[in-house]
Amino acid sequence: MSKHLRMQILAFWLILFFAAPLAAKNLILMISDGMGFGTVMATAYFHGEKPIYTAFPEKYLVTTHPATGAYTPESEWKGFDPQPSQATDSAAAATAMGTGVKTLPGRIGTNPYGLPLPNIVEIATDQGMATGLVTSVPISHATPAGMVAHDLSRNNYEKIAQEMLYASDLDVLMGAGHPLYDNNGNLKTSGQEYKYVGGEGVFQQLRSKKGLIAKDGRTWHFMDAKADFEALARGDQIHTKVLGLARAATTLQQARSGDRQLVDRSTPNPEAPSLAVMSRGALNALSANGKNFFLMVEGGAVDWAAHSNEKGRLIEEQRDFNEAVAAVADWVENRSSWKETLLIVTSDHECGYLWGSESRTFTPVQDRGAGNMPEMVFHSRLHSNLPVPLYVKGEGVSGLLKSLVDSRDSYFAGLIAGFDPDFTGEFIDNTDIFLLMQLWVSEDKGAP
Ligand SMILES: [Zn+2]
Repeated sequence: MSKHLRMQILAFWLILFFAAPLAAKNLILMISDGMGFGTVMATAYFHGEKPIYTAFPEKYLVTTHPATGAYTPESEWKGFDPQPSQATDSAAAATAMGTGVKTLPGRIGTNPYGLPLPNIVEIATDQGMATGLVTSVPISHATPAGMVAHDLSRNNYEKIAQEMLYASDLDVLMGAGHPLYDNNGNLKTSGQEYKYVGGEGVFQQLRSKKGLIAKDGRTWHFMDAKADFEALARGDQIHTKVLGLARAATTLQQARSGDRQLVDRSTPNPEAPSLAVMSRGALNALSANGKNFFLMVEGGAVDWAAHSNEKGRLIEEQRDFNEAVAAVADWVENRSSWKETLLIVTSDHECGYLWGSESRTFTPVQDRGAGNMPEMVFHSRLHSNLPVPLYVKGEGVSGLLKSLVDSRDSYFAGLIAGFDPDFTGEFIDNTDIFLLMQLWVSEDKGAP
């Protein structure tokens, strides 16, 4: 869609939104990193049930390519392409969703010329909202970074973490990347890795008696014990400015020991909370600020499992994400409402080129019954350019979403119709997710 047309749509909907009475407005964006339709299907088939977001009222395909790419159904379905040159990385995709601007792979909140862009955390903060980011991978990894930070490279973890902790207005930050623990929840005896938390000095400051004081003058409450995550999730202990660092080096569960081709959630890293527990805790912390809020939750290790072609861990990670969505939806229904809270569930890109057959191209993942590994084949260890699903629940966004449709991919709709016939093949772009979020928060004036 052209920039001019986008601006016209924005102006039109802004007028409509401002005409409506002010009300509480929370915004929750949930991203399963690397999730394509194959991921959703494999997880649903293995567990014998569809995730709740497949019943959400708004469903579209989303194109994910970076500034240097494109998506056209004609070229996508012309050939089976496990190594697409046009695929995005997580940094460019997070920047597109977090700022509305397509950029080069690797960039965090900066445009192709390297200039910093205003992001959704800054925009929500300007509207008087509290903000939080939760992930199952390191706190400073590409997806959370793209919502709040500005950097030429996603690999500058130390700088990105420092920007999050010292220079942003975040109220809640939770994830993995603990310097002192391995991925089985054991204290490391050597090889401590401090980069994800901003360096050793920052980590010591966080844990010191004085603590680390942020830009807003408030001190980060640091916690890393699983029991503390659970207490926050239950509402027994409330902190309004909280850094929750799970006791896992890189991912909550995906990188732990064990057979990664099997689904076995009976042997977890015992020290790490689930994404659902983190999400509930984040919701409690954010709502305790007495403001409306923006929360992003990332199931970050779906992508890590897909890169390594791990069937078992892929399904485990997607299940963990699904349970987090269920926890969030439960919170909306009991503590808020679908009028007050907009919930967006999507992905940043597909990973693994996951289909259901070794030999026949474009065969969807096949159901082999609950408890059995579905027929699923990774054809790549890379990201693909396949459109990803978008599921939205919340009032008053139906017309806006419809107006953002770029085109229709009927062939893809036909491939997934057996699993979910609600997708018509109409697609929007990942930058449109930003537009939707920007419009949702722009009405808000801070008071719930
Ligand atoms: Zn990604």
